[in-house]
Amino acid sequence: MTHRDSTPPSANHLTETIRDAWALVVPVSCAGCGAPSRELCAECLDRLARRDGDTARALVRWSLADGTPGTAARPYDALLGAVLLACKEDARVGLLGPLAAVLEPALDVALREAIVCTAGRAPEIATVPASRRAARTRGFHPVERLVRRLGQRPVRPLRWSREPSDQRDFGRAQRFANLAGALRAPRPLDGRRFLLVEDVVTTGATAGESVRAIRAAGGAVLGVVALARVMP
Ligand SMILES: [Zn+2]
Repeated sequence: MTHRDSTPPSANHLTETIRDAWALVVPVSCAGCGAPSRELCAECLDRLARRDGDTARALVRWSLADGTPGTAARPYDALLGAVLLACKEDARVGLLGPLAAVLEPALDVALREAIVCTAGRAPEIATVPASRRAARTRGFHPVERLVRRLGQRPVRPLRWSREPSDQRDFGRAQRFANLAGALRAPRPLDGRRFLLVEDVVTTGATAGESVRAIRAAGGAVLGVVALARVMP
């Protein structure tokens, strides 16, 4: 498995270490409720971790239009949305740990199922590349950081062939039109099998376009994994 970040791993690692250290010394408010606190107050951390519930039972299972199985750690809710937004937009890396704990059961289940399908060979963990806009403003790829925290090495088999419009206010049909043909694999992917990891699946347009682009290059997608799915 190869790591295809354009930045050398050592520089990435140094930046991550500095950011993590910074997050510990700068006072912040809780990303969930805004109370003066650490990254997350104890109450929001408990709610996010669902310590009182059964995480395996909270998993959301569905299929993309093409039949690719999807596994999300939970249905999307306001708390998860607020924590994810603070992590992504404000680069609050102290939130990566709690978010990785949310993702873990979904990734575990999907990996186990994929390994059964591939006769014991683990699939590669693929992420969707950040748009140029997001890469400029964030400087880090939150989903890849989550995947690394769970002991996996993410790969980026795809590139944007054109910059899609910001689709936050788009409806379902607009999202699919915005993304159709927007991703491509720069190299052949013959014989490679992937699990695709995303943060939040809304319409499935990004996941669907990613699966199409990977298949077009000769690869296979055994499943899509997400932190949360916005329930239709
Ligand atoms: Zn809170």
